[in-house]
Amino acid sequence: MRNKGTEMPFTGELLKEDRDGNFKCKVCGSTLFTSDSKFDSGTGWPSFDQAVVGSIEEIVDDRHGMTRTEVVCAKCKSHLGHLFNDGPTATGNRYCINSVCWGFDEKNQ
Ligand SMILES: [Zn+2]
Repeated sequence: MRNKGTEMPFTGELLKEDRDGNFKCKVCGSTLFTSDSKFDSGTGWPSFDQAVVGSIEEIVDDRHGMTRTEVVCAKCKSHLGHLFNDGPTATGNRYCINSVCWGFDEKNQ
């Protein structure tokens, strides 16, 4: 638990979570995704095709010479992961959530 570096693929705890239920921000308890929207993207990270309305904020991040959309908790601003628009389902959205950061925000607010 001391290694707080980047999460390796296929190691996230949430990836193994196949039961029905809600995925919550562990910092503030806000419900962010439901198991209905979870799918196996093949990337090794937990992926969702839609978030609970109003539960997240999307922030355009172009700091690294490429434009990505960062996903943060709308309530407590914890970093959750990134949103891509190449999803395989009807929404076209693919929320790639880093379960190490899930509800665990190392950044000072
Ligand atoms: Zn939160």
